[in-house]
Amino acid sequence: MVLCPECDTKLDLEEDDVDEGEVISCPECGIDFEVVTTNPLELKAVEEGYIEEEEEEEESEDGDYS
Ligand SMILES: [Zn+2]
Repeated sequence: MVLCPECDTKLDLEEDDVDEGEVISCPECGIDFEVVTTNPLELKAVEEGYIEEEEEEEESEDGDYS
């Protein structure tokens, strides 16, 4: 059984049933959580408007050559 880290509501999901990177939402507090790891299951609150964590450093290599 998985508990919401925020409000301790039982989330209707099984540890075997989620994948890393999957985003689930708590029906009670409405907060979205991303599955960080599945073993052990660890959830991380997803920031608003920020679903997938991508650590891409965009370097503007175009359009600025002199
Ligand atoms: Zn909750």
